[in-house]
Formats: sequence, C-alpha cells, structure tokens
Amino acid sequence: MAMISLAFSTGCSKPASEGETNAGKTDDKAPKTADAKGTDKKKITIGFSMDTLKEERWQRDRDLFKAKAEQLGAQVLVQSANSDDALQNSQAENLLTQGVDVLVVVPHNAKTTATIVESAHKQGVPVIAYDRLILDSDVDLYVSFDNVRVGELQAEALVKQAAKGNFVLIGGSPTDNNAKLFREGQMNILKPLIDKGDIKVVADQWAKDWQPVEALKITENALTKNNNNVTAVVASNDGLAGAAVQALGEQKLAGKVVVSGQDAELAACQRIAAGTQSMTVYKPIKSLAEKAAELAIKMAKKEQIGEKTQTVNNGKKDVPSVLIAPIAVDKSNLASTVIADGFHKVEDVYKDLPKDQWPAAK
Ligand code: BGC
Repeated sequence: MAMISLAFSTGCSKPASEGETNAGKTDDKAPKTADAKGTDKKKITIGFSMDTLKEERWQRDRDLFKAKAEQLGAQVLVQSANSDDALQNSQAENLLTQGVDVLVVVPHNAKTTATIVESAHKQGVPVIAYDRLILDSDVDLYVSFDNVRVGELQAEALVKQAAKGNFVLIGGSPTDNNAKLFREGQMNILKPLIDKGDIKVVADQWAKDWQPVEALKITENALTKNNNNVTAVVASNDGLAGAAVQALGEQKLAGKVVVSGQDAELAACQRIAAGTQSMTVYKPIKSLAEKAAELAIKMAKKEQIGEKTQTVNNGKKDVPSVLIAPIAVDKSNLASTVIADGFHKVEDVYKDLPKDQWPAAK
C-alpha cells in the first residue's frame, strides 16, 4: 500500500488544554507585525470552532491544523463547545468579534450552525465546514472525507465475514450530518442482503452525541431481546464499537460477533489486533487538517483556492467540496496502514499481545 505511506504521516497529539476547551477563552489577539517594507500588516487569524475534543481524533485535528496554519504564517484561535449548540454559536460569535479573517467550523449541529455562517458573512468572513457539513446555509467550502464511502467500507468488511444473520445498527449523533452519510453508505451494502432475507436488522438506533454509553445499552438490549443471537454490530465509530465489544464481552461473545468502527483510535487498533473488533476506517487526519489550513488561509486572503473540488448539496446550495478517500483497516493491514503511517506505534497497538503475534519488523 505505497499510496498511503507516501502521502501521510502523523505525530502524536497532545491532550486537550484547558484554555482552548473552555468557553470564551482563546489565544491572544493577533499581534501586528511589520512586513519587509515596514508597513503594518496583521497576521491572518483563523477561528477554529470545534464541537468537541472528546474523541481522540479531534485533538489530532486541532494540533495538526494549528501547526500547519502557523507554519504558513497564520495564527489560530480554537474553541470547543462540548456538544452544546448554543455554546458553539456564542463561541463563534466571539471569534468573529475578535476579528478572525476566516472561520473553520466542525458543527455539533448541522442545522443550527447555519446561523454562524450568516453572521460570518455579514462581516465578510468566509466559512469552511470541517469534516461535517453545515446544512441549509451558504457555507463557502466543505473539507472532509468521502463519508458515504466510510459507511460502505464498514458494511463491506462485515458482510465479507458474515453475510447472513441478525445485525445491530448503531448510528452516530442524529445532529451530525456525517452520521446520516455513514448510514447511507452502510445501507448501500446491506439493503440488497436485507431485501433478500439474508440479513435481519434486529436493532437500529442512533447514539446521542456519539456517546459510547448509548451503544452499550443498544447492544445489551439487542442481545437480551434475541437470546444472544446477534451476528454483527455495525457501529459507526470506534467509541461506539468499544462499548459494543464491552457488551458482547459480558456475554462471552467478544470476537465471535463481527463489529465495525471508524477513526483508527488506539484502543480500536488494539481490539483489532486482539480480534475483538473486526475493522476500523482509517481517515488520514493530517491530510484533512493540512488541506483545510491551506485553503482557509487562501480564503482569508480572498485568493482562488486553486483546488479541484466536487460539490455536495446541503439543502440550500451545491457546496464546493474537497473529499479525501478513507481506508478500511483490519488485522491484515494494520501494519501497512496506520502503523506504517506513524499514526500509531506498533508497540502501542500490540502491547498486550505476545511478541510472536506482532507484525514482522521491516
Ligand atoms: C466524524 C467521526 C467521529 C464522530 C464523533 C464524525 O462526524 O467524522 O470521525 O468519530 O464524528 O466525533
């Protein structure tokens, strides 16, 4: 898989720092700098409004985005809203008051964040939807992965191992447009098998705010209702997968029921190595974060983004979009994808397994 290792490599993330995650607190205002001719020139300032830093990936997103923007001479003010719609909107207003040149938003709520786009545009500030689309709005650009494909990869991997039986579907947050795209992709694969009668959906629910505790309950209930006769759990991300595996473990079914995931979180990669989770979807965050930082700076400077885009309709318009390809990961390619890429270290992924089960060193 040369394609992967040549394109991406990621360092470690640092944990959430208080100042960035709390409401109303951001880095200092952009300092005035002097350019070569001695004229005052303000540094480009990017506002990064994030839904959450809860899942492991978002800390990477923040760190890589910031690093790239700073390398390109801009500064970034980060806010995280802890899954609170009103807080995210007020944090974004606060960033606009501080005079950001461009706003990059990971929406908690695909609909209510449309207000942020309106406010920004009133002040001539362009808005990028980062990873998750903002619906029914005039958002300027969408930078993400091919999220329908993510869902297809999840279902494809599971049906390859178990094409018949009782399936439990655990969707993500109902307020996250991605959750719907993942489900659309999953159904592209599952529907023909459901129609044929090979697959029976015995539970089909959504996890509020992507909370693992919801997945625990959904899986436990599905097991009880079906006398443990469950073949597969289509979990939409690794946090939900972890909780599903926990519920399966309580019934001594971990490793016997196939389970999907997404994000290539360390714990998920460890479960894949140990055989209790069947797959995850690796989304190279470095590519996303760096692309978004580059394009944010171009938009702040009112330059052409000079990028090949496709469009995704958000209910109001066809939004120019840059979508990166996701990669399915199972036991057979852990080493050649996430580990080869430096996303995780082999000694972390395999730490609980005897050395003879580690992938051969190159
Ligand atoms: C992201 C996933 C993430 C989930 C929960 C989705 O919108 O695409 O990578 O696991 O949100 O934060």
